[in-house]
Amino acid sequence: METVVARLEMKHFENFLQQNCKAAQKLKQYFNNLHRKRLHEVEGISFTDERRFLALVAHNEMKPSLMEFAKNHQDKLRRFHLIATGTTGIKLYQETGLMLSKKVASGPLGGDQAIGKMISESSILGMIFFRDPLSAHPHHADIEALGRLCDVYQVPFATNPGGAAAILNYLLVDHPEEAVIPNRVLENYRNQQKKVVASA
Ligand code: PGA
Repeated sequence: METVVARLEMKHFENFLQQNCKAAQKLKQYFNNLHRKRLHEVEGISFTDERRFLALVAHNEMKPSLMEFAKNHQDKLRRFHLIATGTTGIKLYQETGLMLSKKVASGPLGGDQAIGKMISESSILGMIFFRDPLSAHPHHADIEALGRLCDVYQVPFATNPGGAAAILNYLLVDHPEEAVIPNRVLENYRNQQKKVVASA
């Protein structure tokens, strides 16, 4: 296709920086990102996965409910990049044919923590976690941590079929970008930590 090539030299950029600092910074950021991506591709340093996922997890006693939910909402679920913990992922594929875009370890073996890490990187759009409310779990701390991180990052979090259906509708129909409420928890924490850094 027809292409326009512009050569921007350092002195041009410096002028631009003086004239419109904000736009110049944006431009620099854009080219930095391009450069980093290219480096990753060429040198195979690492792969930047920019997908955002819907996470599905169910405790053993709740797996039948999640399978039924997934069968009933297959069409909607197929519109997301899905991620699940180990056993939940296998069962989902066996019973509904739903393919995951990514699978992490089984929950008690670190899978919940792996999803938590992704929440902290803004890679999780929503979390559907059918927790079993009537038995104790060895990885209780990980389950708690996952719920806490959803609150910190304002990730929609559902623990039962009604909530899960609401999340699907919210993500697909309600245009979440417009409905987003500023994350005061995160803002306050970051401001507080800036002060800690400044005082060190
Ligand atoms: P599982 O893990 O999908 O590997 O069973 C679920 C969980 O977090 O307990």
